[in-house]
Amino acid sequence: MAETRIALVTGANRGIGLEIVRQLSRAGLMAVLASRDVAKGREAAAELASEGLEPPVVALDVTDEGSIRAAVDEVLGVFGRIDVLVNNAGVLHEGQTPDVSKVLQLSPAMALATYETNTLGPLRTMQAVVPIMQKGGYGRVVNLSSGAGQLAEMGSGFPAYRMSKAALNALTRVTAAELGAAPIKVNAMCPGWVRTDMGGPDATRSVEQGAETAVWLATLPDTGPTGGFFRDKAPIAW
Ligand code: NDP
Repeated sequence: MAETRIALVTGANRGIGLEIVRQLSRAGLMAVLASRDVAKGREAAAELASEGLEPPVVALDVTDEGSIRAAVDEVLGVFGRIDVLVNNAGVLHEGQTPDVSKVLQLSPAMALATYETNTLGPLRTMQAVVPIMQKGGYGRVVNLSSGAGQLAEMGSGFPAYRMSKAALNALTRVTAAELGAAPIKVNAMCPGWVRTDMGGPDATRSVEQGAETAVWLATLPDTGPTGGFFRDKAPIAW
């Protein structure tokens, strides 16, 4: 029988991250639910327990290297490896101030805070986890990006968020290029506009739909792509 893959999903106490944990668990992976507030993570895991799923919970704040190190050590202590990393944690600070969400009004402090989570968070987690994947000879990294970060179709509004996701896409490509074809695959994806706290109630997609492409990328076969940007399991423009 094939070994159970160990997956670490950041920002998994709600929204798309929680749904990714649900779908990976249903697919037979050991999906670790990482949450910066471990109490919120446990509450979310209790929700899944009613469906017969029991994801382990770890505390992990993507802006804090010490927290990432501790979470990774905890997972290694229990399972001995990490095969899949889903960089899902994200913030849209401008969501609270959409009417002043323009470049000429953007505070550099807000831009920096957005980068800290959306861009440098995945950089820190990859730096902690990819060397473990290299030792294990297998790895799937999925970066939750956004169409808002597509340079090919760049619109206006939410500049800090857009820049942070465009930079995440660059990080995805440069990491994939550095790692080469195999055995670790690094891809970015856009979940579409999803009904979560971030997406709001008018969004067109359910969390189930939003998580689907991330789960596909997290479980790619060895022949699958690396260094790509996907929505609905199909490549999209950068
Ligand atoms: P939510 O706002 O519903 O959830 C965001 C999650 O990220 C929460 O669990 C939150 O934790 C966590 N988080 C925020 N900061 C940190 C941190 N420093 N360390 C660890 N966790 C953190 O967002 P979604 O589920 O909608 O979004 C998930 C991902 O998908 C994000 O990267 C987002 O940019 C992307 N995306 C979403 C779209 C949408 O329409 N919803 C569209 C395109 C992309 P806490 O509860 O503690 O705040």
